[in-house]
Amino acid sequence: MEEKEKRYRQILRACGVRPTRRRILILQAITEANRPVSAAELMARHRRMGLTMDRATLYRTLNLFLEKGLVERFSSGDSSFRFGAGTRHEQAEAEKSSAHHLGRDSFRHDHPHFFCTSCGRMSCLAGDAVQVQLTAGNQALPGRALKIEVRIDGICQECCEKMEMDH
Ligand SMILES: [Zn+2]
Ligand SMILES: [Zn+2]
Repeated sequence: MEEKEKRYRQILRACGVRPTRRRILILQAITEANRPVSAAELMARHRRMGLTMDRATLYRTLNLFLEKGLVERFSSGDSSFRFGAGTRHEQAEAEKSSAHHLGRDSFRHDHPHFFCTSCGRMSCLAGDAVQVQLTAGNQALPGRALKIEVRIDGICQECCEKMEMDH
């Protein structure tokens, strides 16, 4: 068995998910993407690999991963969510510590994102790209904040260039 596959198998087990081949592939695709991806992008990736997967199975798997904290979900400027590696994932990895280090292909998305409303691509921004400051003591909030999601909607460079060429 490939080393990488073994690692994903362990992460799934650590989070209480039975590691089937399909689940491993989906988790790997999400973790190794350098940006949050949509279900449609995951479907396309599977097709490129010559694999078939129906939408219902994919959504069921994504929901299971969400429930277990293996992936995180981000709202986008369109009607579908984008998925990225979650925090439980990182913990599961840390518990096994030094022996298996995920290294650069482990990606946690606790930073702002840029969403292109033209092509639908979501990309990651540096953590300090946008500063969100809560007022002291969180008095402006009606409760305790657990997560802040920052997304900038706009047109990506590639789409900007395409639009200019069309004119
Ligand atoms: Zn990100
Ligand atoms: Zn674009």
